[in-house]
Amino acid sequence: MRAWAVVENGRPLEEVEWPTPEPRGTEVLLEVSHCGVCHSDLHIWDGFYDLGGGKKMSLSDRGVKLPLAMGHEIVGRVAKVGSDAKDVRPGDLRLVYPWIGCGKCERCLAHEDNMCASPNFIGIHRNGGYATHVLVPHERYLIDFGDLDPALAATYACSGLTVYGAIQKVMPMPPDEPVVIIGAGGLGLNAIAILRALGHKRIVAVDISADKRQAALDAGATGAVDASGEGVVQRILDASDGRPVLAVIDLVNGSATARFAVDVLRKGGRLVQVGLFGGELTVALPVMVMRALTIQGSYVGTPQDLRDLIALAREGALPALPLTTLPQCEANHALDRLHQGHVTGRLVLKAEAV
Ligand SMILES: [Zn+2]
Ligand SMILES: [Zn+2]
Repeated sequence: MRAWAVVENGRPLEEVEWPTPEPRGTEVLLEVSHCGVCHSDLHIWDGFYDLGGGKKMSLSDRGVKLPLAMGHEIVGRVAKVGSDAKDVRPGDLRLVYPWIGCGKCERCLAHEDNMCASPNFIGIHRNGGYATHVLVPHERYLIDFGDLDPALAATYACSGLTVYGAIQKVMPMPPDEPVVIIGAGGLGLNAIAILRALGHKRIVAVDISADKRQAALDAGATGAVDASGEGVVQRILDASDGRPVLAVIDLVNGSATARFAVDVLRKGGRLVQVGLFGGELTVALPVMVMRALTIQGSYVGTPQDLRDLIALAREGALPALPLTTLPQCEANHALDRLHQGHVTGRLVLKAEAV
């Protein structure tokens, strides 16, 4: 097999030849057809996350080893199955749930693999889809996506699931209660689409970019608020019936957005933090108590969340994100484009043979 691997942090990916793995037991070997390029790949490539205040979280301390084929938004065709894999056959086209755990702990046995304390995420802790082949430990991580566009289906494994998982944390809510979405880039537009598909009626998008605010309104947001300058809190309240809100999903999650996200919450309100922009938040502790606030982080979603999201997409309820496909061998170029911010929607790498 061939891979486009991180050999050294921050250095260009290298095209490498590795022995093609033989699936054993429950394992399934897929030939990768599509792989989305995610913003978090830039952090994995760099080798750290910015924690704010000059502090960094090193990924090698968290079990990421090089060389690594990144890529966690994977669609592929089953090439070979282990002797205990009964439900898939060579030739089947499948979406991969990449957020797998140890397979043995309470959370894994409860099918909440993404919450496992010993993650074994595909494309982060083990080789992923920037490669011709990927080995998946169990067929239960493979999802049939019917006649959805495979390039689009791939993006649901991270960008779609991340948003879906966060939305599950603020639901159920009356459809007319405003949900505030901070960040109207790719994830934000996805959030608006999913909320609408779930029947939600009031969505207020917040962004510094006028173009992105317009895109949010075009996608069905009922309000759009400029996040730059003074008075952001008041503008959000004005767009939300003039009163504090029950739910904010912060897809940026930097020091500035987290500040106004907390400040617009109503008694009993919930802030779900999703973005990895970096920074810190100081909250007066009595305020947490007296306003009975919840601040909750959200990291991707469960295998069932991904199946539910795919079912929603297969019903035709979700408009397609703008996608740009590039040949798999241009993984470096794709990362550079993302790094420079020259990407609308999602970049998806596509195998030559597809
Ligand atoms: Zn991702
Ligand atoms: Zn586990």
